[in-house]
Amino acid sequence: LSTRATQILSALDIPTKGEIPGVYDGRWKGSGDIFESKCPSTGEVLARVQSATPRELEESIRASREAFKVFRTVPAPQRGEILRQIREAIAKYRKELGALVSLEMGKIRTEGEGEVQEFVDICDYAVGLSRMMNGRVVSSERLGHSILEVPNPLGVLAVLSAFNFPVAVYGWNLALSLAAGNATLWKPSPSTPLCSIAITKLVSDVLTRNGIPGAVAGLVIGGKHVGEAVVQSTDVDMVSFTGSENTGRQVAKVVQGRFGKVLLELGGNNASIVMPDADLSMALPSVFFGSIGTAGQRCTSTRRLYLHKSIADTFLERLQGMYAKLQPGDPLVSSTLLGPLHTQQAVALYENAIADLRSGGAELLCGGSRYVGGNSPLADHLLGGNFVQPAITIPRSSSPHEADLWKKEVFAPILNVAIFDELEQAIEWNNAVPQGLSSSLWTRDIRNVGRWIGPEGSDTGIVNVNVGTSGAEIGAAFGGNKSTGWGRESGGDAWKQYVRWSACTINFSDAAPLAQGVDFST
Ligand code: NAD
Repeated sequence: LSTRATQILSALDIPTKGEIPGVYDGRWKGSGDIFESKCPSTGEVLARVQSATPRELEESIRASREAFKVFRTVPAPQRGEILRQIREAIAKYRKELGALVSLEMGKIRTEGEGEVQEFVDICDYAVGLSRMMNGRVVSSERLGHSILEVPNPLGVLAVLSAFNFPVAVYGWNLALSLAAGNATLWKPSPSTPLCSIAITKLVSDVLTRNGIPGAVAGLVIGGKHVGEAVVQSTDVDMVSFTGSENTGRQVAKVVQGRFGKVLLELGGNNASIVMPDADLSMALPSVFFGSIGTAGQRCTSTRRLYLHKSIADTFLERLQGMYAKLQPGDPLVSSTLLGPLHTQQAVALYENAIADLRSGGAELLCGGSRYVGGNSPLADHLLGGNFVQPAITIPRSSSPHEADLWKKEVFAPILNVAIFDELEQAIEWNNAVPQGLSSSLWTRDIRNVGRWIGPEGSDTGIVNVNVGTSGAEIGAAFGGNKSTGWGRESGGDAWKQYVRWSACTINFSDAAPLAQGVDFST
């Protein structure tokens, strides 16, 4: 283990010697392939983690089912009390967990801690929810009858998550799933195993203290094959999948093929539109954060920027000025704003996208290369990291109707810019891509706001005004439309997906009439 990893893991009471078990179903184990956790900022191997064998996965799923049978009978407010304790345990280690996210995923410190705070926030939310997961009473047309709509625990929820939010996405799912009375089995990204081990350790300590089986919050570390086996299992009632559109498409087919429940949170290709009346002193830093934050590796990152022709030159000049001052650095140092990409493969994707833009005649206003060699501003210990220069480009074609490059999510800090005349045109461009996650309009004119959030407006799941595309709060349902998968997680009515609903008609009369007046008397 590296020294930095050892320090952080020791603080979290996680073994730091040898290979770390990556499977938990009430007991820690793992005798499958070894996965390396690699630090994106230095390239060093942080730890070696043991994944699940097919047999261990089977055991884990079985343990989850058994744990569900116990947990479903625990009254919901008591489940809320357990959630409150989990909230305390996570909050106590906010700094250490945030540092671990920075070390292993590569996002900067404040974003790492922000992600842990999201876990804390959703636990708070779910504590309240545990006393408010109400069904309802529906009027019956029959005398002496009542109809109840009843939510009950659903079963086993598998959470398959992406590398870029190695803590928060699980938090959103676990909190609602625990409140709902389910057992949850987590299959995290294999490139962020330490974050998932640390979280599972803290959660399992709370469960154990409360006499709840550990497999209520199980963990199986593994790659594609483990993911496929989880998705295929008929013992998994619901799959909550966060990841790329390609993988999501395969997962959806498999789960729907066996009539399981599936919740999809897939890629985004998010646009910000800046109107002539926008307050640029607000819009500029928000677009800057939206495109650079997490080095462009948020599902809500700003990838498209539509500028009104009257402010386009000023806006771009000022934005370029902000980009020019940006220095890449160690994500663990609090002044760093630009961390690395997560993997070498991500760097290759970035380089391919820049090459495609160049060959398609795009103008590159800044960025476009990786930081390498002696003349890069990187400190010596970061030279093995995956650092790239954020790019602003003006593609030759301005409309997604004309060029495919606008339609893909490239998971890297590349901001494509186009200039528009009328809001209608910008909204049409905003909506003309397959994805539908987040979008943002900058204006002070209430008429623009009405159009933007109404039936002729943005078609994304998150539709912001004078707020960037990135950085949602947990209170509202989070998710996207179209190829982003239509899933909703976190707040709002998202909890309703984590339970099984029954309509119960109860007859407390002395007759048994049929509905709709049907007469079947003999
Ligand atoms: P990915 O699709 O490569 O992997 C996601 C998860 O699926 C991982 O745990 C992976 O091991 C697993 N997996 C891979 N192949 C599988 C298969 N055939 N069957 C079952 N599981 C399989 O995604 P990634 O590169 O880790 O994450 C980046 C993507 O996630 C981006 O597209 C980003 O937009 C998206 N994302 C979306 C949201 C959202 O809320 N909409 C949030 C975060 C990330």
